[in-house]
Amino acid sequence: MKVFKFGGASVKDAAGIRNVASIIQQYGEKNLVVVVSATGKTTNALEDVVKAYFSGSTDDAMAAFAIVKNNHHTICTELFGSGTHPVFDKLQNIYAEVDWQLEEDRKEAYNYVYDQIVSQGELISSVILSAYLNESGVQNTWLDVRDVMKTDDTYREAVVDWSKTQSLMDSIVKPVVKDSIIVTQGFIGCTPENCTTTLGREGSDYTAAIFANMLDAEHQTIWKDVPGVMNGDPRVFSDAVFIDEISFNEAVEMTFYGATVIHPKTIKPLQNKNIPLLVRSFINPEGKGTKVGGEDHNLPPIRIVKNSQALITLHTKDFSFVEDEVVAEIFTSFSNANLKLNMMQQGAISFEAVVDNIPEKIEKVKNALQDKFDFSIVENLTILTIRHYSNFDYINQFKSDRKALLEQRRPSTYQGLLV
Ligand code: ADP
Ligand code: ASP
Ligand code: MG
Repeated sequence: MKVFKFGGASVKDAAGIRNVASIIQQYGEKNLVVVVSATGKTTNALEDVVKAYFSGSTDDAMAAFAIVKNNHHTICTELFGSGTHPVFDKLQNIYAEVDWQLEEDRKEAYNYVYDQIVSQGELISSVILSAYLNESGVQNTWLDVRDVMKTDDTYREAVVDWSKTQSLMDSIVKPVVKDSIIVTQGFIGCTPENCTTTLGREGSDYTAAIFANMLDAEHQTIWKDVPGVMNGDPRVFSDAVFIDEISFNEAVEMTFYGATVIHPKTIKPLQNKNIPLLVRSFINPEGKGTKVGGEDHNLPPIRIVKNSQALITLHTKDFSFVEDEVVAEIFTSFSNANLKLNMMQQGAISFEAVVDNIPEKIEKVKNALQDKFDFSIVENLTILTIRHYSNFDYINQFKSDRKALLEQRRPSTYQGLLV
């Protein structure tokens, strides 16, 4: 049993879908679950539909959705010719659900509507990929992942119900996958009331890891537009080099600090069952890729850049010390706002926190703490993290034209907050 995950970049157009189909044909057999993301930038485009809907204009929302329909129509006419293939009807049924939602008056909560609309991207892409595979002679079964991936109702950040999902994997997925390829959606799930949820942006890697864990896969492969894991994002560091293998723990550290090549929640379900994660290139599928779950041999310094950071400084209004109970209150406020502290530092009468700049979450923290603290914020900052730095060359290189507002060094890890 294997699990393959294909992200948006791999299925961004008809040529991409043909390429993915040929990879499945070459490297997959039965006993394979294929998890697919929405095509290209579809999730962002669907977010625009939701924004237009809530800003009050059904016409604007319909126009934003027409862009999504047109993009997929272009892909489908290239893959299936014009009009008569059954895939067109299947897509019409998906579109009708969204149209219907857009005609509703705006009574429902934003996050709920977001999930009902944004989730459609994965349904569309998986229907197209499944149909194209069948067309190419690769028989497969399309699975609506909402039949098995059961979650709570925390819309946009739904939490998977492991025991319900496991029992549905056992009863629905296992009997089918033993002699078939299953094509299904990443990123989405379903509440006990049968409402669609999403697991958080970029969550398809995580979906694939849940399948791998619950089906006891030999390995999971995530097919990316890079040769594998490198010692820095090659879009940022032109000298980034490929890494053959890394341990699960190193991958956890990298993703914790913000390496986007793997979704942070992906590692644990695999590590728990010692299932290797292969990060391979869909552009060069012959390449063997990086094995996550191997050994760390002489790792080079690994650089991670996290942009759009905000530095929040809290000063006690009455100049009292930031003692244990005060720190506890600060942590509780961040945790209630679901805002992770990416860096922090405590002074006598102040506390500094570095977080992703998400205004609505920061506002929640501010409301909770403003009676006791003066609150100031500096935006547009970057965290540079370097794991396994042996000297300061990389740090100085990156810092040369920037100022550091905060720096922290441990033997294994450097972190700098840079303007
Ligand atoms: P997906 O198509 O599965 O959503 P992503 O775009 O999320 O894939 O992840 C692949 C991207 O991750 C690469 O294009 C690269 O820019 C970025 N990336 C960030 N850090 C690294 C790293 N250390 N090694 C390789 N790629 C990285
Ligand atoms: N399509 C979703 C997103 O863009 C999930 C994913 O790609 O992993 O966030
Ligand atoms: Mg992605």
